[in-house]
Amino acid sequence: SEPPKPKRIKALDPNVVNKIAAGEIIVAPMHALKELIENSVDAGSTSIEVLVKEGGLKLLQITDNGHGIDREDLPILCERFTTSKLKEFEDLSSIGTYGFRGEALASISHIAHLTVTTKTAGSSCAWRAHYGEGKLVPAKPGQPAAPKATAGRGGTQITVEDLFYNVPTRRRAFRSASEEYAKILDVVGRYAVHCSGVAFSCRKHGDSGVSISTPSAANTIDRIRQIHGSAVANELVNFEVSDSKLGFRASGLTTNANYHVKKTAVLLFINHRAVESTAIKRAIEQTYSAFLPKGGHPFVYLDLEIEPNRVDVNVHPTKREVNFLNEDEIIEMVCDEIRSKLAQVDSSRTFLTQS
Ligand code: ADP
Ligand code: MG
Repeated sequence: SEPPKPKRIKALDPNVVNKIAAGEIIVAPMHALKELIENSVDAGSTSIEVLVKEGGLKLLQITDNGHGIDREDLPILCERFTTSKLKEFEDLSSIGTYGFRGEALASISHIAHLTVTTKTAGSSCAWRAHYGEGKLVPAKPGQPAAPKATAGRGGTQITVEDLFYNVPTRRRAFRSASEEYAKILDVVGRYAVHCSGVAFSCRKHGDSGVSISTPSAANTIDRIRQIHGSAVANELVNFEVSDSKLGFRASGLTTNANYHVKKTAVLLFINHRAVESTAIKRAIEQTYSAFLPKGGHPFVYLDLEIEPNRVDVNVHPTKREVNFLNEDEIIEMVCDEIRSKLAQVDSSRTFLTQS
């Protein structure tokens, strides 16, 4: 008998492609929020307020006082690969910020209802626009899709409603709103520690108080105290190390040998973006094993700046992990510095108890 005929190959509908891409970038509400916070920080904001309903699945709203978005740019704001931060491929390796691919707002608009209200310093009013599938859409059926003039303060407010409303399998996979809210608090808390000069707040809709509230003038230790408590904040030592050949500069705050918890907490920023690194976490745990009782772990805030041309942020669509050159050497230098700081504190303590 004859072999079966192949089925014809056809291009997927662009909206299907965009929905798939969006689901790879925005896996949970925390990923949408991280992108939005980074945009607000990139816009030079000194105040960032977050409001959350049902773990971010019903509502994620972020209000900043940054430079705003020009009225003329609103029609293409949510198209894929539209950005004010990148022009050439080479820029990928040379720009300081790395929320640069113009994919975040586009992605969100494909899997949620998105509203943007924004005012620049040069505009006499604010403009409000609604988005769906990358394009401007009317607020209500029958109305024009064009941005509408409205009252508003300088800056941008982004409202994300009904995340994953058109991805029912993903939507159903979320079982607990409080679990998602905890992850959101983790993201906001990380940026609140890192971004000196920026006031952060995070509130759950319906709650009278705020979960996170950090004034803009707070220093890093105060920020850690507000978010992680005095037990951590009172036992911090600072460290700093750099090497021009390896093209990096690292600084941070790390707990001394008086403090330990069940799980290592690493607040890692590489070029001002919160990222994860199993290699760094493992090396830090290894370093502390000589100072802490068995099963005890540290809290570490590490601010790592690496020459952008040595960093590859394109290893993962969510940009959660990054690769950089001389990773092993850099990690070793950071851990050596932490080790010597811990040894200093340890010996001064021994000295104190002896005298
Ligand atoms: P990217 O950040 O990679 O450029 P996004 O989709 O996150 O892509 O944002 C697209 C563009 O929209 C940004 O380049 C920026 O110009 C503008 N933008 C987004 N959020 C804000 C904001 N909060 N304030 C000012 N401009 C913003
Ligand atoms: Mg962005």
